[in-house]
Amino acid sequence: MQGCLTIDLGAVVANWRLLGARHAGAVAAVVKADAYGLGAAAVGRALRDAGCGTFFVAQLEEGMALREALGPGPAIAVLNGFARGKDGRAGLLPVLNSLGDVAAHAGRDAILHVDTGMARLGLEAREVVRLLDDPGLLAGVRLRWVMTHLACAETPAHALNAVQRERFAGLTQRVARGVPRSLANSSGMFLGVDFASDLARPGAALYGLNPTPARSNPMRPSVTLAAPILQVREVAAGDSVGYGAAWIARVPSRIATVAAGYADGYLRHLAGAGVVGSLLGRPVPLVGRISMDLITFDVTGVSAAHPGAMLTLLGGAAPSADALAAAAGTIGYEVLTALGRRYRRDYLPA
Ligand SMILES: *Cc1c(COP(=O)(O)O)cnc(C)c1O
Repeated sequence: MQGCLTIDLGAVVANWRLLGARHAGAVAAVVKADAYGLGAAAVGRALRDAGCGTFFVAQLEEGMALREALGPGPAIAVLNGFARGKDGRAGLLPVLNSLGDVAAHAGRDAILHVDTGMARLGLEAREVVRLLDDPGLLAGVRLRWVMTHLACAETPAHALNAVQRERFAGLTQRVARGVPRSLANSSGMFLGVDFASDLARPGAALYGLNPTPARSNPMRPSVTLAAPILQVREVAAGDSVGYGAAWIARVPSRIATVAAGYADGYLRHLAGAGVVGSLLGRPVPLVGRISMDLITFDVTGVSAAHPGAMLTLLGGAAPSADALAAAAGTIGYEVLTALGRRYRRDYLPA
């Protein structure tokens, strides 16, 4: 018996449309890391059919697999770049992150990434100066877009947001005049109209994570995770449950053992953080440590608890990915991308 991830492609498409309605320019879809764990092929096809024409992945191999899934139409850009010719016939767009990349991809379509405050990838200021001194360096490349990436978009009050926007405006005006611009990620799209560009690059918000952490979530949730109960047992007051005897029953209790664990991305830090699951709409507290393949819930008084019943762990009446992340001291992005390979994936059609 295995757990089941239900992925609502209709919600993903609705989220993409909602973002499109609030953005003056076009909206791409970031589907790196297998669409944040939801499945890049299925998500990509649903968004392509809804009219999305540009996709971003992180790695060459992801891009080639996505081309296979989507066919020849949409643009597929590879954020980490790739060596010249490595994409074979997949027709991928390299993101040029350095002067070396610019030189290597002369003669083909590409995206230029200028760094404005992330110091991770993209041309540094001194490299941009080289491009200005020697415009011939860029002459061979057909720039489809010029992009930058915001470091603090989920913190609207952070001063770096406006600094990056201004640096980007200045640099693109000088090195890539007239080239369409790509600025905001999910949270960047909620910073106001000044952060609009020709192409926004949301990922997280498409999948229902909250792009405005200080406010209520404007996006539709797209994932639920349920896993089957393997056993239900009675424990006496004073009995311990699980590794380290970390949880001790204060009263006689019924404990349900569920088939999911940290090997499936149910983060070990969730133990002891007050997390609940949902069994037929009844909240059931997580108890004891998280094992590799198993977790335990206190189902005392819940008559529906029996082997084979599905207990909801994430989404629906259970906590959202963002809520689980907060309990585990991480971000929803990590909860989604950690979702394991052992779950069955069911897709609700768009
Ligand atoms: C991952 C990524 C995005 C998408 O970010 P979200 O916060 O998920 O919307 C956009 N641009 C770049 C360069 C990225 O690496």
